[in-house]
Amino acid sequence: MNGFLGARRVANGPDTRTAVRLVGVTAAYDGVGALHDADLDIAPGEILALLGPSGCGKTTLLRSIAGLHRPSSGDVEIGGALMSGGRTWVRPERRSVGMVFQDGALFPHLTVAENVAFGLGRHDAATAGRVAELLELVDLADYADRAPGTLSGGQQQRVALARALAPSPSVLLLDEPFSALDAALRGQIRSEIGRILREVGVTTVFVTHDQDEAFVLGDRVAVMSNGRIHQVDTPDALYRRPADAWVAGFVGEANLVDAEASGGFADTAFGAVPLDGQHDGPVTVLIRPEQLKLHPGVEAEIVDVEYYGHDARYGVRTTTGLEVAARDTDADLRERGSTVGVSYSGPPARFWVR
Ligand code: ADP
Ligand code: MG
Repeated sequence: MNGFLGARRVANGPDTRTAVRLVGVTAAYDGVGALHDADLDIAPGEILALLGPSGCGKTTLLRSIAGLHRPSSGDVEIGGALMSGGRTWVRPERRSVGMVFQDGALFPHLTVAENVAFGLGRHDAATAGRVAELLELVDLADYADRAPGTLSGGQQQRVALARALAPSPSVLLLDEPFSALDAALRGQIRSEIGRILREVGVTTVFVTHDQDEAFVLGDRVAVMSNGRIHQVDTPDALYRRPADAWVAGFVGEANLVDAEASGGFADTAFGAVPLDGQHDGPVTVLIRPEQLKLHPGVEAEIVDVEYYGHDARYGVRTTTGLEVAARDTDADLRERGSTVGVSYSGPPARFWVR
């Protein structure tokens, strides 16, 4: 079997169906574990978001791909070629990887154009043309001679992106590239960078602790906590079919309601909720706030109101004492202390056996 696979590999050359592959990658700092047994397959041209709370190992995973950190075990492949694993170790500068960090880390004494040219590592006739092309791509053609310090945070990040893209890397790695920007700017630059990445078609791994960012930019999202990857899926699949209760709560607000299941339904405080599988016995049902409709239904009290304009989030307490969140786009804002009806209105719900 090994012989057959080996022969096929030689016949077809390197496996280019995956741009980046991690197999059982474990990493530690001075013997303290930071990443455990990470498996990941990233397709060519895909944008993969690594999403997880601070300290969960996202940067360590990114650095393991870049070759800035050496895993204690497991394999890292780029474009089908082994970068690290066993006795193999390919130095970072030989991996064809571009990186953008949180603060952009531009050279303050170089102009915008010189910063981008630096990414090319050479100065010949082709350099100026390539730099102009990249500045055009990131919409900064008029800023070539400016000093980085005179640009806005968003513009600086676009220069950093142009510099990383200049040598046409096989893989682009972005580590929380928007987190130093203020909230209003973040949404805008995230859309712009998304457009640029899709235009270039470069395989991208992008680290964030922000669920919105991961969902908006990622073709798929890998959700991490405590050094482990919980689930890798499209944003839609993560939201609707989270692998576990932790993922459910991290990618959106989750009401986790304990109930008895039978015949494909859970008997909850809001009546029967259809389930997306068969099980009879105690379960925990995932109910998203927007799946709870405030009228008509089981009687409940509004105990909390947060008004957002486009919708409102209500804390709702049933007569059985269960408190849940409900989101409602109804123009009539409900008052704290008022009585409403609550019912489930959504697809068959995800559940876990208790
Ligand atoms: P994230 O990027 O998700 O915030 P990191 O990969 O930076 O997480 O860190 C994962 C874990 O490894 C954390 O517990 C962190 O404290 C630890 N760690 C990260 N870098 C170092 C380092 N250079 N030396 C020792 N521990 C580190
Ligand atoms: Mg980090």
